[in-house]
Amino acid sequence: MGASFQIIVDTEVASDQAQTVGQLALNWLKQQKIIGDACVGCTLDKPDEGFLPGPQAMQAVDETDLDDFFKLRTNAFHVIVGRTIFFAYPGPQLVRCPNCGYDAVANNKSSWQVALNAWKNEQPSGFQCKNCYMNLSVEKWIYDPIWAFGNLGLKFWNWPPLKSEFVEEMSLLLEHEITVVRGKL
Ligand SMILES: [Zn+2]
Repeated sequence: MGASFQIIVDTEVASDQAQTVGQLALNWLKQQKIIGDACVGCTLDKPDEGFLPGPQAMQAVDETDLDDFFKLRTNAFHVIVGRTIFFAYPGPQLVRCPNCGYDAVANNKSSWQVALNAWKNEQPSGFQCKNCYMNLSVEKWIYDPIWAFGNLGLKFWNWPPLKSEFVEEMSLLLEHEITVVRGKL
């Protein structure tokens, strides 16, 4: 079976606050027993330290029977801190200009990749639309499937779909706008 992931990305938190806000989220998830014991080798990322789902994991997901989920080898949660392009997988199929809808991936892929690297390195990451000539930072383009750019991600490996109420609750807790990025390997 292929692995899947969901990442709640805080798209507003400043880089010097990401660690603190990430810790706040981690503590809350532990307190709610949505996540449980720490584990090693239980995510598909590096460093591969994470937290196993807790006895109240059902609070977070749209699924009532979690027996199979609890038995999975990879079902952990972990926090990602640091400037990151949170990409969906597979993807992107489309990267559209928010002004005219022009697709950058089909028509201007190498410049788009240059802009992505610039964003990652905290360089000016403006990317000009070849069709309407609007110049917009690369994170402001419209990604399908959804991507997110930010300093903090809360990643759930192989969890059933996160409940929208839970996602909203996390946004209130973090006091920031969030975006959910999904992928299937
Ligand atoms: Zn355009």
